[in-house]
Parts: sequence; structure tokens; C-alpha cells
Amino acid sequence: MTKLSVKDLPRESASLREIQKYVAALTADRGFSMDVNEEFILLTEEIGELAKALRKFNGYKFDTKTHETNLREEFADVLIVLLGLANITEIDMYAALIEKEKINLSRRWNIVKDKEEN
Ligand SMILES: [Mg+2]
Repeated sequence: MTKLSVKDLPRESASLREIQKYVAALTADRGFSMDVNEEFILLTEEIGELAKALRKFNGYKFDTKTHETNLREEFADVLIVLLGLANITEIDMYAALIEKEKINLSRRWNIVKDKEEN
């Protein structure tokens, strides 16, 4: 029996840390795995589902016999599993994002198209 309800959902202005705490609560509430390997496999599965939804979004051909995909739901699934994996490995995603962006902001980006010379 789940203890979380709609009233427990993060509010619209919730911080990334608050959302990550909510994912920790739902992980415990639903008895989801705390195994890093199992969760990483699940993350790749959810990314695959997101890829399928993006294929449909882009109008690419797809097998109509495959189950329905919903782009919003697939983005949410990926975020939930990613934050769950961060919780298992005790990574504060807000702090990680800020630390990495500080590195990225000082980095010089040299983006080129495929087969284009630097
Ligand atoms: Mg999914």
C-alpha cells in the first residue's frame, strides 16, 4: 500500500533538491530497487522509450504494433530513474549540476558539424 499521495507531489516551484527528495520517497514507498546495476539497466530502458517517443515526435517511421509512447511521460520516466540512481549513489544532483556547469562555463566550446574541419 502506497503512502504517497497527490498532496506529496513537488510543487511547481520545487527545487531540484526537493524533487530528488521526492524521488527518494517514491523509491522507498514503492519498494523500487536500490541496486545500481539494476537501476542503470532501467535507465537505459527508459532512455530507449524516450528515443521511441522522440522518433514519433520527429515524424520518423515506427512500427504501429509497438505500444503507445508519450513524450512527456518518457521524459518524466528518465528523470525519475536518473534521480533515483543519483540517490542510490548519494549524488546531490543540484550540487553536481552547479559544479559541472562551473567547469562548462569556463570551457571553450568548439562545436563543428560532422566532417567539418576544426
Ligand atoms: Mg518509460
